[in-house]
Amino acid sequence: MNKKKSAPVTEGNEANRAKAPSAENGGTTYALFSSLDRTGQGEVLVADLAFALERLGLGNDDPRLFSFFAEIDALGRGARIDFNTFQQLIKTSPILVQKALQKQLIIPEFEQFRDDIKKIFASIAKNTSGKVADYIPQLAKVDPNQFGISVCTVDGQRFSFGDSDQLFSIQSTSKPTSYLIALALHGSEKVHRHVGREPSGHSFNAITLDGHNRPHNPMINAGAILCSSLINPENDAADRFDYVLNTWQRLFGGKRPDFNNSIYLSEKNTADRNFALAYFMREKKVFPPESDLHQALDLYFQCCSISATCENMAVSAATLANAGICPLTNDRVFEDGHVKDTLSLMYSCGMYDFSGEFAFLVGLPAKSGVSGVVQLVIPNVMGIAIWSPKLDIMGNSVRGVEFCIELVKRYNFHTYDTLIAGHSSKSDPRLRVNQIKQEGAVQICWAAANGDLSEIQRLIAAGVDVKEADYDGRTALHLAASEGHDEIVKYLLGHGADLESRDRWGGTPLDDAKRHSRSSVIELIEGRTKKKSISMEKRSDAASCYGSEVLN
Ligand code: GLU
Repeated sequence: MNKKKSAPVTEGNEANRAKAPSAENGGTTYALFSSLDRTGQGEVLVADLAFALERLGLGNDDPRLFSFFAEIDALGRGARIDFNTFQQLIKTSPILVQKALQKQLIIPEFEQFRDDIKKIFASIAKNTSGKVADYIPQLAKVDPNQFGISVCTVDGQRFSFGDSDQLFSIQSTSKPTSYLIALALHGSEKVHRHVGREPSGHSFNAITLDGHNRPHNPMINAGAILCSSLINPENDAADRFDYVLNTWQRLFGGKRPDFNNSIYLSEKNTADRNFALAYFMREKKVFPPESDLHQALDLYFQCCSISATCENMAVSAATLANAGICPLTNDRVFEDGHVKDTLSLMYSCGMYDFSGEFAFLVGLPAKSGVSGVVQLVIPNVMGIAIWSPKLDIMGNSVRGVEFCIELVKRYNFHTYDTLIAGHSSKSDPRLRVNQIKQEGAVQICWAAANGDLSEIQRLIAAGVDVKEADYDGRTALHLAASEGHDEIVKYLLGHGADLESRDRWGGTPLDDAKRHSRSSVIELIEGRTKKKSISMEKRSDAASCYGSEVLN
């Protein structure tokens, strides 16, 4: 962008007042500009534009918006810009900025969602139960009270609370990625010749194989060691680890992961169980012939010792939620089909011996690690990382699990909540659902206007609310009343339609019926209104009879 052209305009300068362009020359962009023009002077305060994005969780640490925010900084937040400058500015990231300003991101009311999560975070912070893992001495040295949460949506909207920028070793949350890398390198058929897809029913480090002499699944130690053996065994150890780190970097939206060498050494020095497991697997000829047991184990320890923050882990969870494409870079890290397989296994096996309970209660794929991290994936919506080191007896972060349970109590994110959509009292912050609702409203209004009773019955049975209104605030009852479809008016009234609802111009369904002289509809509605007021009178009579008793 040419900075000379984007000089701030001065307040109240008539010459700078933008003229409304037509649709062809930027009508939509102009509408967005106007929505931020607080004074109507044809200018927008740079701070308002920046804030409009920041409140949606899009900040200057978003790689897609680096140049946008660099331009903002160059202008200064106190500057005022005209329409031309505004156009130039949003051109640095046109689709994302337009989508955001048009409220087209997956969570349009992002601040409200963030405030809600903050409340859950604050209430869970009070829970201090659990015990830090100490079987790896270095893990026991962390401050047990730390607690962080980060959220990243499939549109890259982000927020974090607490210790979300503290590094921890990712431990078992490395397992889905090692499995995904193995799938990418060899395909599902070869990988599953060596590892199963069944919950083991035993602890994560149990020395056990399935009936085909395979580790039960890639989410437990045996399966993860096996997947490590499949990661470029022909290369030397350094290149193999670099390959894994590079993949994590892509999952983190470009942020290079750290590596905790003390954890790695501590892990390796106390890994008798993992050595025993690997020797047992070698005896049973579980490994492919080209692999070396010690190298596979070493890579496994290194993967567990990769260090990251909640912020990073939320972006990688969001990449899985987004079918393998990192929301911050649009980089396709993994194939969608492989992500689907991985999420299926996280769903059934990701939370140690609590996996079945977790699937039942939370209904979402997740993976837990002994450092106290939980990655939660809400497919097509967002990824969440929760980190708090104190674990329950199953080895899951106490606060991590509690957060997931609280989240799905409030929001209809459980996979099977959709079965009770429309009847559930839970909220849904997704635009997609708003769109479906809006589509439902349009359909029912259309059917009402056309006198199509059976279509209305079908829509109501499918969960469309009769009270839904179209963009003009007109309900099905308004339209049926306007068109004089008494059967439909009767049906809608019998199914909860609201006689008092007002459209954009303040008109009720009765006003519509009167305007179009629909005498039978007028009779019907007035009859209902009379009945309603008589029963209200009766009720208030009854209330006054018993009033003294109630008051006493
Ligand atoms: N490094 C751990 C082990 O193999 C991973 C444990 C975990 O997070 O489940 O013992």
